Amino acid sequence: MRNQFITDAYIGIGSNLQNPFLQVASAIEQLSLIDETELHSFSSLYSSRPMGPPDQPPYVNSVAWLKTRLDANSLLLRLQAIENEHGRTRDGERWGPRTLDLDILVYGNFTLNSQALTIPHPGIKSREFVLYPLHEVNKNLMIPNLGAIHRIQPRCYANGLTRLSI
Ligand code: ATP
Ligand code: MG
Ligand code: MG
Repeated sequence: MRNQFITDAYIGIGSNLQNPFLQVASAIEQLSLIDETELHSFSSLYSSRPMGPPDQPPYVNSVAWLKTRLDANSLLLRLQAIENEHGRTRDGERWGPRTLDLDILVYGNFTLNSQALTIPHPGIKSREFVLYPLHEVNKNLMIPNLGAIHRIQPRCYANGLTRLSI
């Protein structure tokens, strides 16, 4: 559904299969093509240690800042379609390797707590591969229920996160 207002939405992007760097670059391009939506900016690409099962390749991560008239559920459907186009399968273990993961991190001032959609994303505060690129794209971001990104990000251990040069 289309909203009257434009909302700032922040998308967490991750991949650790089938050329993760290209998966993330291609995902950013696909995000720029979503209807009712503009790609405002995106962070550097980062290399991060895998969360969950340790016997998997490192991840490439980024965060995109979108401006959208889509409501949060419609945006999630668009993200899942892009994941599917990138060969994402959903049969593996939780947090197992994947070609592409697109999560809604923040959607304006909106908060929601259902299984299908939790906003802000519940992993934000403990994940260096989300907090560092999020801080890079908007140092002034206020995250509902959590506070200012510039206060939260420095409290999170970098855990070997490295910025990839292009
Ligand atoms: P995590 O959400 O902890 O990062 P994940 O990204 O690996 O784990 P997925 O398999 O991608 O999890 O998604 C599982 C379900 O999470 C999806 O079907 C989706 O409905 C739900 N979900 C809930 N909140 C969100 C959100 N903010 N962004 C994306 N998906 C979400
Ligand atoms: Mg995820
Ligand atoms: Mg996900």
